Amino acid sequence: MELNKQMQAWGESRSVIRDLFEYGLQRKAEIGADKVFDFSLGNPSVPAPPIVAETIAKLQEGDPVALHGYTSAAGDMQVRHKIAYYLNKNYGLTVGAQHLYMTCGAAASLTISLKALCLPGDEVVVCAPFFPEYRVFVEAAGAKLVQVQPDAATLYPDAEAFAAAITAKTKAVIINSPNNPSGVVYPEWVIKGIAGVLTEKQAEYGHDIVLISDEPYRELVYGNVEVPYILNYYDNSIVCYSFSKSLSLPGERIGFILVGDKMSEGAKVYAAICGAARALGYVCAPSLFQRVVAEALGQTADVSIYRYNRDLLLDALTEYGFSCVQPDGAFYLFMRTPEPDAAAFCERAKKHELLLVPCDGFGTPGFVRISYCVSTKQIENSLPAFKALAAEYK
Ligand code: PLP
Repeated sequence: MELNKQMQAWGESRSVIRDLFEYGLQRKAEIGADKVFDFSLGNPSVPAPPIVAETIAKLQEGDPVALHGYTSAAGDMQVRHKIAYYLNKNYGLTVGAQHLYMTCGAAASLTISLKALCLPGDEVVVCAPFFPEYRVFVEAAGAKLVQVQPDAATLYPDAEAFAAAITAKTKAVIINSPNNPSGVVYPEWVIKGIAGVLTEKQAEYGHDIVLISDEPYRELVYGNVEVPYILNYYDNSIVCYSFSKSLSLPGERIGFILVGDKMSEGAKVYAAICGAARALGYVCAPSLFQRVVAEALGQTADVSIYRYNRDLLLDALTEYGFSCVQPDGAFYLFMRTPEPDAAAFCERAKKHELLLVPCDGFGTPGFVRISYCVSTKQIENSLPAFKALAAEYK
């Protein structure tokens, strides 16, 4: 049978992260789970806040047929009203239910948005380091991914490289802050800079360029760090949000798309979002969890645990002589490898039972990602292994 070769290739291509995870499972079976230090996956390690279980229990007292039935394709109207009210109150927006589309998480939000926007030949600019699935999402939408390298010191997009990457073919730009894999949060001046460049380029090329903010880690920030809301800086904005990380619900597949209310031809863009969701079979996000998240807006899992883990790991690795980027958000530590080949470094780490992700696929060779959404005990137990690994490079 003749298949879609690209789909087959994506299905068969091995993910470095999944491979590591599988290796970890096998190794745990061989030497014991407590002797393997798996830092590969970004799966929340903190339980969902109590409001989730309480709301599920309350909802189950009602009509089960209505509870588990389809909602509108775009999501339950009351749920979307509640989310719009919350966003307006917290971020000073003026959006309504008609700007929101409920989805199965950020991945679906992105694939729907890109499918709605892109035509063959379009370019979508992403800022390294970036979530490797962006390549699949962008290419599946028929567009070409163009990457911008970051400023080496800050890991914000390099201003000159960013401006140079925006061409007459640019349809959209994806940003992700707090960032996976670096944990970096873009401050307001960076967002203003991006908005400024896009505004100029729109005028120069005479067409709209959409800024897509992928933000599953919005609430996972430590200290007094603000995550600017892009609709307040740039009109042609789409937010791809997910409750996977903030509420520790990644398996429930729930999030939303917000189309900026001041977007040019916004009603047409929203219609294309509805059409793309339909074409991809993504209508009606899980009904039960639409209602759950609507009751949990503004709440999060206990992120103080991630903060504790971050400080513990960052302080120890710095003391051992490793160089890490200060992570203000998400739950990843981004570490420079003491040898240029990150894959070789990860192989060496494996000898110490440390499973770290090389970041070449994120567009940044010479770095590894260490997911600290694990138990604090795992981090404590792993420190002698990190110390021994560091000693090999002294
Ligand atoms: N975008 C980024 C940057 C992510 O890290 C992830 C998941 O790890 C996703 C999107 C997908 O999130 P979801 O589980 O909501 O589909």
